[in-house]
Amino acid sequence: MNTKDITAKLALLLIILLLLPCNALAQKKKKIKQKDQPFTVVIDPGHGGVDPGAIGRKAKEKDVNMSVSKLLSEMIKEEYPEVKVIFTRTTDVKIPLIKRATTANNAKADLFISIHSNASKNKKARGCETFTLGSGSSAEAKAAAMYENEVILQEDNYEQIYKGFNPRSSESYIIFELLRAQDMEKSAELANLVQKGMVKHTGLPNRGVSSAGFLVLHKTVMPKILVEVGFITNKDEEKFIASKEGQKKLAKGIFEGFSEYYKIYGKHDEAKAAGSKKAEPAKKEAAKSGVPVFKIQIFSTDRELKSNDKRFKGLKATYYKEGKWYKYTCCESENYNEVLKKKKEVSKKFKSAFIVAFIDGKKVDTQKAIKIFKKQKK
Ligand SMILES: [Zn+2]
Repeated sequence: MNTKDITAKLALLLIILLLLPCNALAQKKKKIKQKDQPFTVVIDPGHGGVDPGAIGRKAKEKDVNMSVSKLLSEMIKEEYPEVKVIFTRTTDVKIPLIKRATTANNAKADLFISIHSNASKNKKARGCETFTLGSGSSAEAKAAAMYENEVILQEDNYEQIYKGFNPRSSESYIIFELLRAQDMEKSAELANLVQKGMVKHTGLPNRGVSSAGFLVLHKTVMPKILVEVGFITNKDEEKFIASKEGQKKLAKGIFEGFSEYYKIYGKHDEAKAAGSKKAEPAKKEAAKSGVPVFKIQIFSTDRELKSNDKRFKGLKATYYKEGKWYKYTCCESENYNEVLKKKKEVSKKFKSAFIVAFIDGKKVDTQKAIKIFKKQKK
């Protein structure tokens, strides 16, 4: 073997060695990406088939819900062709509430939007509103949820399937209280955005955002809302929500809310953000690339706060931005166990505090980051 050969082999070995870790990392990244399915929205047109939902003078709720749902889907597909839209029903059939939730869960959907029309004995009641899941923030919200849940009484074996849930008993609704924390923040953000969009585009009275115990929301495990587009029992509003023009405005409003949400949480923008970050790679950071950083999120607000703001309750907080939201965090560390310990203390001051994770400055799924942390620790 001459020296030239040795040099060549050494060079080759060096190249291989240099490429190996990068390659492994790239493959790891690819794996995570592949697991990332497209952003998926489940649209649930309420009622259907033998269950017409609420009935107006002429219109049936199930038809209004379907028309608005289809228009919403068309708008999403046109503006965001990368988003996957799934319907719980596309025809006039009756689907049990549990099956609607299962459809969304099996699809591992990112969002669940249930579309309904409101009804009241008070023929003057009107306006659009949006619900998230909770035990019922008002008597009216509770009544709306009870009404929507009653469809399960027509389902076979409902007592068995819904485990003793009685839609007419207010005690049954206590179970929803326990579920409030789950995805509550995102659901509330989406509900606010959708409600704002609907009011803006329809001019209907704003009944605001409430929480109530909707069974169809209870069984789904992702951010979720239930929209009541208007009162089918109000003469004028029935006309509006049953008309093509009205339905277009409603769908446009819901779409706008979705769009705002998607700009914040959609994977589409995460990829964009990652792309812009890659444009200026810092050599030093590259060495720590792939290491998760954990933080405790204490609250978010739409304005920048001074570091000594009373709302931080003495904690040293920093923020990251998502859309218009400043999300304040504290207690940053690469050691998940430490952050978890600190969270117990922080939770005494901030009840809804939770852990968020970042890799290379990009927010990632916390569970995923914990797995990576545990693997890297080994
Ligand atoms: Zn309904």
